[in-house]
Amino acid sequence: MSGITELGYVRFGVSKMDEWRTYLADLLGLELRDDIDDGKLWARMDGWHHRITVEQNEADDLIGIGLRVAGPEEFKEIQADLRSAGIDFEVGDMALAIERRVLELILLRDPAGNPIEIFHGPMMSPSMPFYPARRRFGKFVTGPAGVGHVLIRHAGVEESYDFYRLLGLRSESQFRIPLPGAPEPMAGRFMHCNKPGAREHSIAFGLPSEKSCNHLMIEVDNVDDLFVTYEAIKAAGYLMLIDLGRHANDQALSFYAMTPSGFGIEVAFGCGPAGGQSYLLNEDYYGHAPNADLPAMMGEVDEIRK
Ligand code: FE
Repeated sequence: MSGITELGYVRFGVSKMDEWRTYLADLLGLELRDDIDDGKLWARMDGWHHRITVEQNEADDLIGIGLRVAGPEEFKEIQADLRSAGIDFEVGDMALAIERRVLELILLRDPAGNPIEIFHGPMMSPSMPFYPARRRFGKFVTGPAGVGHVLIRHAGVEESYDFYRLLGLRSESQFRIPLPGAPEPMAGRFMHCNKPGAREHSIAFGLPSEKSCNHLMIEVDNVDDLFVTYEAIKAAGYLMLIDLGRHANDQALSFYAMTPSGFGIEVAFGCGPAGGQSYLLNEDYYGHAPNADLPAMMGEVDEIRK
């Protein structure tokens, strides 16, 4: 199986560690490891050692998009593909691989400067079944679908598309959706991994964005957890960016809320897998009403609350 198989992990650098601790544990209901004392937050969603790390810095943004390949051969193949395409990368040393809890990794930037980490061999924690920080009705949907998806900055949709095609991702659905305050409809690309059961999209781009991260999507397998999380985030005073609705491409019933770092989180239920042929969409099933001030709000870290 060549190419990227899943969005394996994500790393964020944030200025408000205490708010993030509460956000991840009490609002999203992830598990935070209490056995590592390095000042970072190591959040779990399943049997992996971790899926999300959060560390102190002023970026308030994605600082690592962990893209998995199947094994050592595929890891070599993708390096050869990058070399022949003239794309620079740095090979992570053993100390970095140990810190990331993977066997091997390389570091590079996509055409928009987004920080990519291609790895294989993530560490599992078999003696630690997922133990959420708050009560949950169900679990997170990960497995072959990975963490979820990220909508990231691009430096031209076609340039980003070519880069992720080189990594083995494909695109099926294309939306052309009018957005408040935007001169042109959003013409996004939604790219999925080369793997049976792959999520409908793991990497998406198309919106203008100063930050690498427009939003991270995570999926729950029980609709009650979607609504409990929605209520918890609203009660904590974080703005809803896009209200509840159902997407036409990945079938997700979802909402988007502000995080403590000025980018969004999408919490979803009922996502379907990638299909196999392209199609065009200009609307969702229903809902997903954007906050009228949406473009102005993104990135305003100090004004994330009502
Ligand atoms: Fe999304």
